[in-house]
Amino acid sequence: MDLDITGLWDKAVEFHGHSCPGLLSGMIIGIIALKELAASRSIDEEVVTISEGQSCMVDALQIVLGTSLGKGNLILKDYGKTAATIFNRTTGKGIRLSFDFSQIRNILGDLREEMKNLNADERKEFLKKIMFKILERPQSDYLKIENVQMKIPPEAQIFNTIICENCHEGVMATRVIKKDGKNLCISCAQGKYWQ
Ligand SMILES: [Zn+2]
Ligand SMILES: [Zn+2]
Repeated sequence: MDLDITGLWDKAVEFHGHSCPGLLSGMIIGIIALKELAASRSIDEEVVTISEGQSCMVDALQIVLGTSLGKGNLILKDYGKTAATIFNRTTGKGIRLSFDFSQIRNILGDLREEMKNLNADERKEFLKKIMFKILERPQSDYLKIENVQMKIPPEAQIFNTIICENCHEGVMATRVIKKDGKNLCISCAQGKYWQ
């Protein structure tokens, strides 16, 4: 499998808006997961990601792994960690990857301090070099990889659209609430989140 790592980095930075160490962590987790699982970027739902952080990292996971909120093959568990479990549906194999922060700090020093005076373009180049430097090292230097057993989340399904009898907006059938004999959307049944 040949990954265009530079191309993916460009895409990730474009998608995320800026380059940062969190995005870099997601790149590394994604790249190594594809390699370990002998998978390629998910066109449909071949790969599933369970991200243990809702941070910059998860944007890179979406780009590298092709696992996204819209496709339903990205599940968020906001544990505030730089870790993710990634499944290859084709083989049934799943692994959990987590950064060893004490090691990575020893290897890299204080990245934020080093990037302090760089502009956006310089930052992007600087972090790209760091990424390749990390990827050259043995994985066990900075990453823990565990084989995991768990129930693989089902593939996303397509449901009918039902018309809410109050606001007449379309709603996915599984989100309709029956109230006083009427089919209602969540906003009409339980109140709106906006005014
Ligand atoms: Zn960021
Ligand atoms: Zn409604």
